[in-house]
Amino acid sequence: MVDINKLVRENVLKLTPYSCARDEFQGKEGIFMDANENPFGSLNRYPDPYQRELKAAISKIKGITVEKIFLGNGSDEIIDLCFRVFCNPGIDKALTFTPTYGMYEVSASVNDVKFIKIPLNESFQIDLDKVKPLFSDKNLKLIIICSPNNPTGNSINFSDVEYIISNFSGIVMIDEAYIDFSDKPSFIKIIDKYPNLILMQTFSKAFGLASVRVGMAFATPAIVHFFNKMKPPYNISTINQNAVLRKLNKIEEYRNQVGKIKNERERLSDKLRKMKIAEKVYPSDSNFLLVKVINATSIYNTLVAKNIVVRNRSSVIDNCLRITVGTRAENNELLNALNSISI
Ligand code: PMP
Repeated sequence: MVDINKLVRENVLKLTPYSCARDEFQGKEGIFMDANENPFGSLNRYPDPYQRELKAAISKIKGITVEKIFLGNGSDEIIDLCFRVFCNPGIDKALTFTPTYGMYEVSASVNDVKFIKIPLNESFQIDLDKVKPLFSDKNLKLIIICSPNNPTGNSINFSDVEYIISNFSGIVMIDEAYIDFSDKPSFIKIIDKYPNLILMQTFSKAFGLASVRVGMAFATPAIVHFFNKMKPPYNISTINQNAVLRKLNKIEEYRNQVGKIKNERERLSDKLRKMKIAEKVYPSDSNFLLVKVINATSIYNTLVAKNIVVRNRSSVIDNCLRITVGTRAENNELLNALNSISI
């Protein structure tokens, strides 16, 4: 049985968190003379530090109780918190499977945590034999798995991930930023089974709120408690909490958009597969396609010249472009531009 208190850094365990005015008095009505706010205006009050109303709405949609929800200023804040809560700088290690989302490595470096990168196999799946011998490393505290993975677009086999969670005695963080675009199950269903699991999702992708910066973590109340201790008191503004609440009240709009994006993803990949410049269009459970082309840099430049910006991922996967699925009209523009390239 994993004991979270033994995994958390000593200073975090001992930390007395900052107690803000809104921690001490939580009522909504009254004459507020406790937080040195300006008494005039409509945005003059500090936000709810624990985003209670928003968490209640998320709880209903995700079917998870509020004490298992943590909200960050984007998932990027949550990634950083995973390192700060569990990894001792200069001593501990974290691990991921590459190619993957680059922020994990940046956060590791910012926190002075050694970062182990194990390459995914040729099907972009985890080679368990490569990771198993590392489970016994006492300083390995955190394993990060991105599924569906960025930039490869595929989901990681559920059973391989579950094997890691149940055999590794440190923390496993699964980043499900793109889960809404996948027909495969989320790990949210097994959150109660594993006290060492942190599941991360975001409002930046399927909910169309990237500018709002709200990421979600689902984990045991013990982990949520340590995240709350470490976060800045008012990490999500009232404006941003309200923007997410409004979106959650229009859940049909979200479903329609996800449906459209998934349809366009299939249409785009069918069309791309027929093009001579595309050597391989990888299957995708996300809102982007990884495409191996004959000359990624030259195609990238041709597209930029036509005001179409895709991501050149050649530095991580040979001759690959990562193309985010746009509107039907945008996808048609892209297809026309690619069709006009002669080889
Ligand atoms: N995780 C993955 C896998 C991502 O690709 C991204 C952004 N591209 C993020 C997290 C960041 O999400 P957020 O906007 O919630 O910080």
